Amino acid sequence: MPKVSKIGFYDIVVIGAGPAGSSAAQAAVQRGANVLMIDRRQRIGLPVQCAEFVPQWISRYAPFSPRCVLQTIETMITHLPDGTSYEMKSPGYMLDRSLLDKELVALAVLSGAKISIETKAVDLSTEGLVVEQGSKKVKIQAKVFIGADGVHSFTARCVGHPSLKTIVALQYEVVLPKPQNHVDVFFHKDYEGGYAWFFPKGKTANVGIGVIPSKTSVLPNLLSDFLNFLRESKKVPRVEIVSKTGGSIPCAPYQKTLFKNTLLVGDAAGQAHPITGAGILNAVMAGEIAGRISAEAIEKGDLQYLENYEIECQEAFGRSLSYGSLKREFLEENWSKVGSDFEGLIRKTWVGFKEYYQDRGEVNTQG
Ligand SMILES: Cc1cc2nc3c(=O)[nH]c(=O)nc-3n(C[C@H](O)[C@H](O)[C@H](O)COP(=O)(O)OP(=O)(O)OC[C@H]3O[C@@H](n4cnc5c(N)ncnc54)[C@H](O)[C@@H]3O)c2cc1C
Repeated sequence: MPKVSKIGFYDIVVIGAGPAGSSAAQAAVQRGANVLMIDRRQRIGLPVQCAEFVPQWISRYAPFSPRCVLQTIETMITHLPDGTSYEMKSPGYMLDRSLLDKELVALAVLSGAKISIETKAVDLSTEGLVVEQGSKKVKIQAKVFIGADGVHSFTARCVGHPSLKTIVALQYEVVLPKPQNHVDVFFHKDYEGGYAWFFPKGKTANVGIGVIPSKTSVLPNLLSDFLNFLRESKKVPRVEIVSKTGGSIPCAPYQKTLFKNTLLVGDAAGQAHPITGAGILNAVMAGEIAGRISAEAIEKGDLQYLENYEIECQEAFGRSLSYGSLKREFLEENWSKVGSDFEGLIRKTWVGFKEYYQDRGEVNTQG
């Protein structure tokens, strides 16, 4: 067994340098905390596991440069299996996700945070955090730990959470001959619990499908059929794939995200939207709250103050997550019901229809 050596003591150690982690680090150093970010990756932002679509108002929370924007989006068109389609305003950006992640890390570092790549968290206890750096094991101590380590969070496991409920996605990037300024979303009974997307980004487009995990094995066939459909409908007359990716997306948040001096943030807390799977905006918002509150708690010398993290997250996006969770439960319960009105079900449960918002007043915001 390799010897565990000790390095440094920090105010805050952020585990994971995705959008949640770097936003947390940035907010914390701006309030005078001494912050280390670690990430197990060799290259920040890579591989990209994302469809790269965000609402335009994310720029209020994430100070990325225009270079990260591959193209702007005006509307979203939702396509139902009966051939009908519906357009709604959806001002957004298609981002270069790897550049976004790198820029957010760089901003945190320029504000005073430290970053250590190829550093994997392997144990977290009252003794501190143990990380692996190649064959070396190193112990790091901190007053607060922020677990921003994604959907399969090691930190969430350490605090005793079960695995998150997820949607599993497969995505190909294809050459796009004709530019478009809207995103397309397609529903089909075979895309169980999920949907297919076609998100343009200049000369290429991200084309993917997400489904409940029990359908993972059929994803390659579903995506291949979807690409044939796009070819036949002349959206992509010649299918040329330039990259492939995929991954899991949380679809039911943890209720508890604070454990003594450890916070869970972003996908590690399951904070992606339970219906759309969009998680970057909430990750950035939750990261900012976590970093700011942690630094303030340290300054006050009062870790109880960390409770404000859950309170502020609840105020920022708790209602939208609770409502989305209820809609997901309804969607999954009714998906396969024989004789059910599938189009009606999608209208009630997809954010692109006004029916989605109809019961919103009845949601318990603490839930
Ligand atoms: C196929 C797909 C498509 C998606 N499309 C969209 C979209 O279009 N729009 C959108 O808003 N969201 C989308 N999402 C969701 C979005 O990618 C996530 O919500 C977002 O990345 C969450 O950010 P995060 O910082 O919480 O976690 P992540 O971005 O996952 O970052 C976690 C970081 O932690 C590091 N890490 C993990 N374990 C350890 C460890 N033990 N030690 C050290 N470091 C560790 C990882 O290397 C990683 O860098 C998509 C997800 C998938 C899978």
